[in-house]
Amino acid sequence: MTTEETGEAAGLAEARQRLLQQIAQDFAETASWTGRPVPSERTMRALSRVSREAFISERDWVAAYDNRPLSIGYGQTISQPFIVALMTDLLDLEPEHRVLEIGTGCGYQAAVLAELAAAVFSIELVGDLALSAQRRLRHLGYENVRVRQGDGFQGWTEEAPFDAIIVTAAPEELPEELPAQLVTGGRLVIPIGPRGDSQMLWRCVKQTDGTLDMQRKLPVAFVPMLAEKKR
Ligand code: SAH
Repeated sequence: MTTEETGEAAGLAEARQRLLQQIAQDFAETASWTGRPVPSERTMRALSRVSREAFISERDWVAAYDNRPLSIGYGQTISQPFIVALMTDLLDLEPEHRVLEIGTGCGYQAAVLAELAAAVFSIELVGDLALSAQRRLRHLGYENVRVRQGDGFQGWTEEAPFDAIIVTAAPEELPEELPAQLVTGGRLVIPIGPRGDSQMLWRCVKQTDGTLDMQRKLPVAFVPMLAEKKR
C-alpha cells in the first residue's frame, strides 16, 4: 500500500467507527417509535464487519460512511446505514435462520444479513443490478447469499418458508404472496406507502392462524417497489 492508500484506509476505518456511534444514537432517538432503544450487539457486529465502500463507486468513498442513502445508478440507492441497522435488528435473526430479501440493489443489506443468518435469498428486479450484486458478494466471500433477478411481489416459492423476510423497496400495499412464505412466528419487515412520499415501516409477525400481527415502527422514505413489466 502507498502512504496515501494507508491514510485512506485509516480514514475509512475511523469514519466507520463514527458511523456506528451515530447509528447507536439514532436508535436512542427513535426508541419511542421503534421500541428498540439500543441495537443488539449482533446487529452492530454485523455492521462493523461489512465495508460499505465495497458496494459503491470509488468516487463516492468520501461519503461511504455518511449516515445517508447514496445513489447506485439505475435511479436506485444504497439505503441509509441507520435504516439498514434498524431493519436488520427488527428481523431478530439467529445463526440458523434463512432470510428472504426483496430489493438486492448493490447487495449491502444482503451482506449484513449474511453475517447473521445461515442463508440469504435476495431478489432484484433490475437484471444488471442482480448480476453485479451477485458477483460482488461472491468476490467478497459471501457464499451463503443467492441473488436472482425477479419480481419480489412473487417471493421465492422454491426456497420458502423463511424465518424472516425484509423488503427494501416500498409497495403501496402489503404484497399478498409474502405472508405464506413465512414460518409461524416469522418476521416480515417492510415499508408500505405511497410513492414519492414517506412510508411507514412495519414489523409483522406471523401468527399460528396464519394472519400477521402488524406493528408500526417508523416513518421512512424508500424507492418504490415496482411491478415487473408484462412482456
Ligand atoms: N437493499 C439495498 C437497497 C435497495 S434499493 C441496499 O442494501 O442498499 C431498492 C431496490 O429494490 C432497487 O434496487 C430496486 O431495483 C429493487 N426493486 C424495486 N421493485 C422491485 C421488485 N418488485 N422486486 C425486486 N426488487 C425490486
